[in-house]
Amino acid sequence: MGKRYYCDYCDKSFADNATNRKNHLMGVYHQKQKKAHYDSFVKRDPAKILAESSKLPLCHNFRTTGECHFGVNCRWSHVTDQVREELENEIRNKREASIKQRQEEEKVPTLEEWLDKRAKRLKTEDDVKSGIPEPSDEAAVYQLPVYSLPPSLANIPNLPPSLLPPLPDAYKYLPLEEWG
Ligand SMILES: [Zn+2]
Ligand SMILES: [Zn+2]
Repeated sequence: MGKRYYCDYCDKSFADNATNRKNHLMGVYHQKQKKAHYDSFVKRDPAKILAESSKLPLCHNFRTTGECHFGVNCRWSHVTDQVREELENEIRNKREASIKQRQEEEKVPTLEEWLDKRAKRLKTEDDVKSGIPEPSDEAAVYQLPVYSLPPSLANIPNLPPSLLPPLPDAYKYLPLEEWG
């Protein structure tokens, strides 16, 4: 007897040659066993399980004894009412968690929050404005320097306005402009 090839997925052995190996590895049964093996490690999507099981009647073995030797390869549904409820809970929790996460990410303020923020901003701007002294408010007006004509210019008649010292109140009533 020649060398044998043993397939772990299928728990099956056969004479090891290129043709047998290729036929086995390409076979539907082997592919299904291999997929089932990997699926058992991956947490399956509960919505997908529910959708698939809803098309199938409940497995007789599974319903009566709570187990079925076909496992994930069984052609009937293994989703009992209890499992269905658990899956539905899982889906609901997932959905709520993702909605909450999205809301936190987007941080869309409610109208009340926006109005509140706006009122605060306007109040701050008013406070800044009211901090600027009004021209009529004598006490608040900045201390302005007092200019006088240098003695060397005092004897020159008809000085141009650009050389004359400004009057003490000259800058007092200029409108305040905001910069920037
Ligand atoms: Zn196999
Ligand atoms: Zn079954």
